Amino acid sequence: MTDKIESYLCGEWQFGSGSGSTLVNPATEEVVAVADTIGLDFKAGLDFARQKGGSVLREMTFAARAELLQKMSSALHAAREDLIESAVLNGGCTRSDAKFDVDGAIGTLAAYAAFGKELGETKILPDGDGIQLGRSPRFWGQHVYTPKHGVAVLINAFNFPAWGFAEKAACALLAGMPVFTKPATSTAHTAWKLTQVLVNADVMPEGTMSFVGGRPGDLLDHLISQDVLAFTGSAETARNLRQHPRIISETVPVTVEADSINAAVLGPDVESGSEAMALFAKDVSRDMTQKTGQKCTATRRIFVPEDCLDAATEALIEQLSEIRIGNPKLREARMGPVASARQLKDVSAGLEILMTEAQPVFGGPGRPSQLVGVENDKGFFHSIVLLRCQATQDAQQLHSHEVFGPVATIIPYSGKSQDAVDLVALGDGGLVSSVFSDDRKFLESVTLGLAPYHGRIYLGGEKVAEYATGPGLVLPSCVHGGPGRAGAGEELGGIRGVKHFMQRTAIQGYRPLVEKITGTQKS
Ligand code: NAP
Repeated sequence: MTDKIESYLCGEWQFGSGSGSTLVNPATEEVVAVADTIGLDFKAGLDFARQKGGSVLREMTFAARAELLQKMSSALHAAREDLIESAVLNGGCTRSDAKFDVDGAIGTLAAYAAFGKELGETKILPDGDGIQLGRSPRFWGQHVYTPKHGVAVLINAFNFPAWGFAEKAACALLAGMPVFTKPATSTAHTAWKLTQVLVNADVMPEGTMSFVGGRPGDLLDHLISQDVLAFTGSAETARNLRQHPRIISETVPVTVEADSINAAVLGPDVESGSEAMALFAKDVSRDMTQKTGQKCTATRRIFVPEDCLDAATEALIEQLSEIRIGNPKLREARMGPVASARQLKDVSAGLEILMTEAQPVFGGPGRPSQLVGVENDKGFFHSIVLLRCQATQDAQQLHSHEVFGPVATIIPYSGKSQDAVDLVALGDGGLVSSVFSDDRKFLESVTLGLAPYHGRIYLGGEKVAEYATGPGLVLPSCVHGGPGRAGAGEELGGIRGVKHFMQRTAIQGYRPLVEKITGTQKS
């Protein structure tokens, strides 16, 4: 049966009047749904959200908004199996990959419910202490954050239809802004199911949640300066959105999470057979293959000291060889197909570019010769490919071309910390890089050298081997984003992420009055 992906606008489910885009099962290429937004009135939807949803949320305290997030999390948890099934069906996800997305959404909403509960029965957020502004202590200043009076328009990439929604929505709703969410069309089935769950559970107050099931149409033409656009996707789309005439004329704030050529650096102290080497091999191989490498935080470049090249390559190959590729419905398959025909084409074309500078040492271009549970030539399957570069000094594409699939490259370096920093920095800004070492001097030097180029640095070594979550996992308490190529945006990071949906204002005046208005009077 083919599902109809409707949009949820003005508190009603609506379907467009066009012929629609088809959504397929990436493992079988069968059509599973059709989405269409032609003719839908996005302006009316945005106005409705601003008026109804915005006013309801602004009347609520942080504690009440936190309760809303907790209810959303619980409703999604109750529907977890359905959502996982949808991610397997339309995302090509193995059950484990689907859980990563769906549980990520449930967990992030719950985490923000806890952050919000701590803020308590207040509606605005003080920013730092009050300040005496003149000669007299009477004249006082206090910075505060208040919710913007617009809509948070959340545009997401195809790879995380559930978590991608939740990480943005949790922050926006806790801030007091209604959300208008638009997932990527190709994998919108899971985001649509998720919205249905929230609407049917009667969790969302009127106007607080809208959903675009399909192409964006003229959505951006109706944004106003009180709205916020939070975007995750490719650098190219980000560039287009930033240059959109309405975004420019209304100076709509835009946050971008884009491409990233994340690195893993192996320290010169790491020996074959050590815990650090085992952690390195486990983390990198998981990152290369989890969600078939379609993870913004996945490691793409692996920097290894020259004298450890063979040992590190061997350790990685040992891990990668264990991963069986096939129909994601089957438990034996540990990696599924990429999410769409377009994605498969992009991976093949990108790999060809990387192979001008590096050669495969494991796997190669094209479909794997053996697939579990696939008896025909259908499905968007691609081999896992580990490349190795020899002429490091000439490499350019390896540092600038993101292949969004199960592909990474080992690149030798001298083992000196400054050389590692210089090479990683060629990626021109990233979401996360990891460093595996137990040499504190090396770790300090690389960490401080890499920090300006990244939103997050993950240090893996003996002391944390048992507890570390891996560089690929985005946690609600730590920031997600990065400078340069990664889009220069920032999300999450506890309450830091909430502030992107609020306006910071300095309130100046008679101290008791300022303190009363801002709720900062000392008891
Ligand atoms: P994409 O093609 O750039 O699309 C991203 C989103 O933008 C989709 O929802 C797409 O909708 C929408 N979109 C495209 N044109 C638009 C327009 N003119 N107006 C409004 N919305 C528009 O990216 P993708 O292929 O889905 O995702 C892969 C990319 O995302 C990779 O490059 C990856 O690095 C990046 N990514 C980054 C992060 C991060 O956190 N930094 C996370 C995940 C992915 P349609 O689907 O309807 O075209």
